[in-house]
Formats: sequence, structure tokens, C-alpha cells
Amino acid sequence: MWGGAKARWIAYALGCELLAVVATVTALVSGFGGPVRPVWFAVLVALGVAQAEMSRRIERLRRWMSGQTHINVTSVWYLAGVVLLPPAWVALLAVVLYTHLWVRVWRQVRTRPAHRFVASTAWAMLSCFAASSVLAVLGLHGTPLQTPRGLFALCLAAAVFELVNVGVVAAGIYLYTSQRSAADLIGTWEDNAFELATLCLGGLAVLALVEQPVLVVFVVAPLLLLHRYLLLKQQLQVAAVTDEKTGLLNTAGWHESAVREHARAQRRGAAGDFAVLMIDLDHFKRINDTYGHLTGDDVLAAVAVAISGAVRQGDTVGRFGGEEFVVLLPGIGHADVLAIAERVRVAVGELNVVISTGSGTVRVSGLSVSIGVARHPDAGPTLDDVLRTADAALYRAKEAGRNQVAV
Ligand code: GH3
Ligand code: MG
Ligand code: MG
Repeated sequence: MWGGAKARWIAYALGCELLAVVATVTALVSGFGGPVRPVWFAVLVALGVAQAEMSRRIERLRRWMSGQTHINVTSVWYLAGVVLLPPAWVALLAVVLYTHLWVRVWRQVRTRPAHRFVASTAWAMLSCFAASSVLAVLGLHGTPLQTPRGLFALCLAAAVFELVNVGVVAAGIYLYTSQRSAADLIGTWEDNAFELATLCLGGLAVLALVEQPVLVVFVVAPLLLLHRYLLLKQQLQVAAVTDEKTGLLNTAGWHESAVREHARAQRRGAAGDFAVLMIDLDHFKRINDTYGHLTGDDVLAAVAVAISGAVRQGDTVGRFGGEEFVVLLPGIGHADVLAIAERVRVAVGELNVVISTGSGTVRVSGLSVSIGVARHPDAGPTLDDVLRTADAALYRAKEAGRNQVAV
């Protein structure tokens, strides 16, 4: 955390964590919010743990793939806890369920550092605590749910829980990443529709638990299905922009990033200049003719790694189909683009690809690429102008004898 996160995020996260602990302990000591119901607490812990265990694999894949906004299916049990438990106890429920998730899922996902997990736990505690406190202050805890007043209490609990949760998490994401778009901070419409569906299931879980606890299995089944759907949606989103052979962005994915970068460049003026490298392997057909298409594919994957390693961290590398690659380099001057293009050319030239086939090992070396370079706005105002210019430059590099960079 000290090395990787911004100071303002650290201050915010530690503040939230301190507040969550102090509020919980104070409420525990003072008995704020009404009687403790150990049976409800135990039932919700058992349900939360059981559901997490049943969808452990799905959750691990999701954690591994997900970006910033993360929809949490455990909200079902938190909403039930908000209605059934006093504030301190629902905050403790969050601690228990998050700790279980940490031990069984998050710990194994390297891209999720512990400080983010601890902050998420504190945000869940605060959301639970705030929603349950509102019910406690208004004297709505324990209202029979089939009455209009009880229904109002349930809706109010869901609304406060969701608003506080979205608010504290959005602030955290903003302070961590400086992203400003609504989709990054509070999620897309679809994310929020999913959150709403989760809360609806939470409402049904409360009704079931109070009226006829066995009926809660009717909530668990659709919840597991929703969870699975979330994973599928994420997988489809990734697959739609990924090139299968190399793991790079595919044409659509690269183009999407390029359009975003172009829009940013228009806003920023000179500071936002970007460049494009159009890269084509030389005489690649010979590789296929000599070693076969499957080995050719392995060579393409190795070239993708070499290109990605030769460009800068924030550059966007894509495969434009066939044996053509394309790189977008944001915020770069003329001399630096040429240096990087040259680095790519040398990196591919030095490649020594070792491929094990059914009939022994094949070594492929002596590869080369021709690279066309174009810069925005020198090449023209639109993205299309830049791509066309880079393509024309690539054609000239081929004409001039291959294994070279042309501008
Ligand atoms: P040059 O670019 O230097 O003119 O020669 P080239 O042989 O590379 O010619 P060109 O770029 O026109 O042809 C592309 C060749 O790349 C044709 C095809 O055999 C091969 N190729 C295209 N896509 C794939 C692929 O996905 N896998 C494999 N193994 N080969 C591919
Ligand atoms: Mg070629
Ligand atoms: Mg080609």
C-alpha cells in the first residue's frame, strides 16, 4: 500500500477503516440499535459462507478478471442483516463474510492486494452500519414485514445501503485511479441493474427468513445463477476484444482504445499527440510453408510477446489479423517513436523461438518486420488519416527492401 497507492487514497481508506471499527465497537459497547439476535447472526453467517463456498470458482475467476467496479453478490446477506440485526452486528457480519472470502478466494488472486480488500471490508461495514442505524433511529427494526410500514423499512434499508455503498466505493475508486467517468466510478446501467436484482433477492431472503426460513433456498438458486451470469458477461466482454492466438487486443478492441486516445488527444491539443506503428512480418508465408501453420501460429504468439516487451508500459498493442500488428503510443514525440519502432524491429530480429512439435523441437530465428510509423496530428486530424498514413509508410518499408522502419 505504501509503495503503490496514492497518499490521498491511503488517508481515505485508513479513515474509513478507523470509522468502521470505532462505530462498531462503540455501538457494541453501548448496545445501540436494539437487542442482539445471535440466531439470526449465525443463520446469516452460515448462508453467506455456504453461498460463497458454492460459487468459489466463479468468484475467483471474476476477481481475477474484473476491473474497478465490482458488483458484490453477498449484498443479499447484508441487506437481510441490515433488517434483522442491530448496526454493530451487521457490521460484524460484513467482517466475517469478507474474511471468509479473503481466505477462500481473494488471497489467491495476485492482482487484488490486501489493502484493497481491507478497504472494501470497511466500506461494506460502513454501508451495513449506516443502513441499520437509520432503521434503529427511526424505530423500524422488528416491524412486521407484511405491513406497509415493514415494507417501507425494507425499501429504506436497501436504498440507504446502496447509496452509502456506491458513495464510499466511488470515492475510493476516484482517489485510487483519478478516473472521472460515471461508468468507472458508479458502474454502468447494467452493473446497477444487477445490484438492484441482488437487493431484490435480499428483500426476498428477509421475507423468507422471517416467515418460513426453509424458503431461503428459493433465493440461493437464482443468486448462484446471477453470479454465473456475471462471470459469463465478463468473459464475453474480454473475449470480444481479445485476439485468441496472441492474447493481444483484436482489431475491434484496439480500435476502441485508439478512438478513446484520439478523443483525448483532441481535448488536450499538443500534449496529447500520439503515434501509430503498423507492423507486418516479412515473408511470413515462408515460415508457414517451411514449418506448417501451427508452428506459424506459435511464432506469431512469440512475436506478440517481443513487440509488447519492446514498447512502453502504457502503449496499446493489437493484432490486426494475419501477421500484422499495430501499436498505439500515446503522448510521444517524433524522435521517441522512431526509437521505439527501432527497438521493436531489433527485438523481433533477435527472437529465437523454440517450439516443441509432435516430431521434435523446431527453432525459428532470423525473423524480421517492416514498420510504418505515423503521428497525430502530422498525418491528419482523424484516426483514419493516421492509420492510412502508417499503412502507406509500411508499404514503403516493404518496397525499400523490408526489415526497416519507414515514416
Ligand atoms: P511480406 O509481408 O514480406 O510481403 O510477405 P508475407 O509472406 O508476410 O506476405 P503477406 O503479409 O502478404 O502474407 C501474410 C501471410 O501470413 C499469409 C499467410 O500464410 C500468413 N498468415 C496470415 N495469418 C496467419 C495466421 O493466423 N497464422 C499463420 N500461421 N499464418 C498466417
Ligand atoms: Mg507479411
Ligand atoms: Mg500481411
